This record gives sequence, C-alpha cells and structure tokens, in this order.
Amino acid sequence: MNRVLVTGGAGFLGSHLCEKLLEQGNEVICLDNFFTGHKSNIAHLLQNPYFELIRHDVTAPFFAEVDQIYNLACPASPIHYQYNPIKTIKTSVMGSINMLGLAKRVKATILQASTSEVYGDPIVHPQMEEYWGNVNPIGIRSCYDEGKRCAETLFFDYHRQNQVKIKVVRIFNTYGPRMDRNDGRVISNFIVQALQNQEITIFGTGEQTRSFCYVDDLIDGLIKMMNSPEELCGPINMGNPGEFTMNQLAHLIIKMTGSKSKIVYHPLPEDDPMRRQPDISKAKSYLNWEPTTPLKEGLSRTIEYFKTIL
Ligand code: NAD
Ligand code: UDP
Repeated sequence: MNRVLVTGGAGFLGSHLCEKLLEQGNEVICLDNFFTGHKSNIAHLLQNPYFELIRHDVTAPFFAEVDQIYNLACPASPIHYQYNPIKTIKTSVMGSINMLGLAKRVKATILQASTSEVYGDPIVHPQMEEYWGNVNPIGIRSCYDEGKRCAETLFFDYHRQNQVKIKVVRIFNTYGPRMDRNDGRVISNFIVQALQNQEITIFGTGEQTRSFCYVDDLIDGLIKMMNSPEELCGPINMGNPGEFTMNQLAHLIIKMTGSKSKIVYHPLPEDDPMRRQPDISKAKSYLNWEPTTPLKEGLSRTIEYFKTIL
C-alpha cells in the first residue's frame, strides 16, 4: 500500500483520482483550499478510513510522510484562473516549490499536472512533446500558461539538481462528471445551456478546435505514468487525439440532449488557441496508454451527470 498525496484532490480531476487510488488499495491524503474544488466531490470518500481530507493552500509549505505526490492544485478554467491571476501563478510556482521540496525530503515520486497550454497557440500541429510552444508571456492567459511552464522548469531542475523522481504530464482538455457547472469550460457550458434550453454561447467563429478526453481515460494514464520506470520523467502528452470544432461540439450536444437551444456567437477571448490536438505516440509506446472512450459515449455520461445536478 502506497501513501499518496493528491493536491487539488477536491477538484474535478482530483476527486476522480482520489477515488481510483483508494479503489486500487492506496492510502490517500487529499489537500485542497476549495477555491474551485468542493467537499461534495469527495463526500462519498470521507467515510473511508484510508482517506484523509486536509484544507491547505499549496502556496504554504506542507509536510507528510508519503510515497507519491500528484500535484493537481491549480484552477484550470479560464474564468477561474483569471479571477486572481497573481494567485494562479503563485499556486503553480510556489505550490510546485513546496511540493518538490516535500518530495525531495521524503524521497517521494511527484507527478505534475501540466497542460497543453504550455504550447500556447501552437504553430506545430498536432503538438508533440518536443515542440516548445507559442505562448504570450504578458496576456490574460499567461498567469496559467507561464505558471505551468515555470512549474515544468522547476520539476526538471529539482530532478537534475536534487535527483527528485519526477513525472510531468501535459494534459489536454479533459471532461466528465463533476466538472463544475459554473466553471465556464466549453463542455460544461454547452451541456448546462442545452439542458436548460438556453442559448449556446460559441466564442469566435466556432471553427477553433479542441481534443476532448474522457476523465476515466486520463486518470488511468496519470496512474500509469506515476508507476512507470523511474527514468521516464516526461513531459508526456495525454489526451484524446479526436479533434473537433466548437461548432461540431455544439451541434452534437444539442442533438444528444434533444435541446431547443439556439446557437449565439460571442467575441473570441484574447489569445484563445485556434487548434489543439495531442500527438500521443509517446504515451502509447512508453506506457501502452491511449484513450478508449469515444466523445459521444463520454458526453452521454457527462450529460447524465448534469441532469442529476441541475
Ligand atoms: P479544478 O479547478 O476542478 O481543480 C483544481 C483543484 O485545485 C480545486 O479543487 C481547487 O480548489 C484546488 N486548488 C486551487 N488552488 C489551490 C491552492 N492554492 N491550494 C490548494 N488547492 C488549490 O480543475 P481540474 O480540471 O480538476 O484540474 C486539475 C489539474 O489538472 C490542474 O492543475 C489543471 O491545471 C490540470 N489540467 C486540467 C485539464 C482539464 O482539462 N481538466 C487540462 C490540463 C491541465
Ligand atoms: N468556448 C466557447 N463557448 C463557451 C466556452 C468556451 O465557444 O461557452 C470555447 C473557447 O473560446 C475555446 C474552447 O471553447 O476556444 C475551449 O474552451 P475551454 O475554456 O473549455 O478550454 P481551453 O480554451 O482552456 O482549451
């Protein structure tokens, strides 16, 4: 049995990760400041004697004897990470320093939830790990993008300088049950709007693309990466290579929900990337991992979830 620390464990991805780690027989410490996470996401785990919930902000140091650390603490949706950009960058940078310091001290393996945003608005397509990205350092998305890039730098410097065992995963848009209905990400927005027969808000022309990975697939990938041979540090892309425009996504969700919603077009937010698709050859060859849930099936499960909470 491993003792595993999950920062951001009460969030969307974190709650699924805690659940899966417990199922696999680990002891889990979930650390969260509840900025975007909710106790309700992990309420069903609170009775489990191997689960512990601690309210803590990762910008402050934390100590616990653990074998593995998954560092997920950071708001992930543009409206939340732009709400207090200075705090967002502190969370990525100071949070990483604190968690890497802990990993160094207790000799734990630490996995960073990095992001496709490190590629910015990519001019290489699909994005492979060798691509250094096209990121605006001073725009409204920079607090998130550059915070995550600096976190990656810290991970590799702690690895080179202090031999910390690191794993860096670049996660592409992931969706599923327990996404916050108000967090403004496209899948939760469209489903909530469609189920309530409200206008579906497409930003820009709707021709920008994203690749959407179902949460269960991603969580399997994170756990595989954490338990991979020590020399595999990453960075490694994880996501579903299926690429869709926002127009296609809106029409699919309207059809699947039988909604009467009309589509309306709003201005494209600043620095919104035009295309995004992961090259997952490395995850396939090194981890034998690839997503197995088609978009329609994942959407159908997500729609069922939102029906229960709306
Ligand atoms: P989320 O907002 O649901 O979860 C983030 C969690 O971190 C929340 O529970 C929040 O309360 C907590 N948190 C934020 N700041 C904190 C702080 N200072 N101290 C302690 N806890 C803090 O988002 P998510 O989608 O579950 O994302 C989890 C991680 O995965 C994030 O690091 C995000 O950048 C990364 N990621 C997610 C996606 C995606 O599509 N979901 C894509 C790329 C990367
Ligand atoms: N988007 C949209 N309508 C919405 C929310 C988002 O058209 O109500 C667009 C957004 O402009 C972006 C894409 O959907 O082009 C994905 O946005 P999201 O915030 O989910 O993720 P990210 O931009 O971080 O990939």
